[in-house]
Amino acid sequence: MTNALPHEMSRAERRRFVVRGLGRAVAMTIALVAVYFVVPLEWIDGVPVAVVLFIALFCGHPLDGPQTSGLADENFIRTHYGDEPLFSMHPTDKSNRPTSGPVPVYWDKVYPLAVLRLFERTFTEGLTDPTRRVAEGQWIKALTRLREYLGSCPGCGGVVFYDPERPERVCWSCTTPLGMPLTITHGKRRVVVGPELALGPNGTLPVPNSTSASAGNGGPIIAQAVTHPRDRRIIGLTNRTTTPWQAAFPDGEVETVAPNSSVATEDGLTITDGAGLRLVFSRGDLSKPA
Ligand SMILES: [Zn+2]
Repeated sequence: MTNALPHEMSRAERRRFVVRGLGRAVAMTIALVAVYFVVPLEWIDGVPVAVVLFIALFCGHPLDGPQTSGLADENFIRTHYGDEPLFSMHPTDKSNRPTSGPVPVYWDKVYPLAVLRLFERTFTEGLTDPTRRVAEGQWIKALTRLREYLGSCPGCGGVVFYDPERPERVCWSCTTPLGMPLTITHGKRRVVVGPELALGPNGTLPVPNSTSASAGNGGPIIAQAVTHPRDRRIIGLTNRTTTPWQAAFPDGEVETVAPNSSVATEDGLTITDGAGLRLVFSRGDLSKPA
């Protein structure tokens, strides 16, 4: 990871970046970027990337909570973002847990446990023990998993993350039980069928819903989800290749899906193209092989 701070600077030298007598708005801004300015030097390896990811996923800073609500000066920033940090979603000490805003909602109702555990480790024992921090490869793996678990609620059609460890979860928006998701097996990868799904060759997951024919490191998109215009709970799959697909339904019917045409997805559907493509749809437990 690129780090703008020269490592040879001492902690005291780096802390001089914090200007005294700041107004609240400026102080808040500094708190947001405090990870680069006032965090202890020993955090630099592994903690900043976790802070940035937390802000991106939870729309809030991991150390923000009731204890930082009076944020006003350098000493306060130094205490709560450096010397005595308390993770807002700490598993046992709830004294810095926000009572409003997106962070507790996303933490309790949206993301899978596997992702929460990585943040919890980093912002509790990982703050003092570098060996407990999450390596870059683990973050990449976790975020890839997140994309695989991205589906839609069977009740309201809203975007949800399924969690293999918590199949009993309900939709964060409408509280409909999520149950077992419809999944698609493609090569060795099994992913949830959702409105953001896009598949590349060999089971890769390209950038979802990209307008580009070639979607970054995932290669060209070969199949892309499309939602029904009048009922977003119904998800189809569009053939983005130049080869017609054969869609075999569980009742024995077989249909041809021409390039740029779509087929509604359902449990038991199998799509082939006669040239090695095989997409198998099934509903079931994500933690078990399809
Ligand atoms: Zn819902």
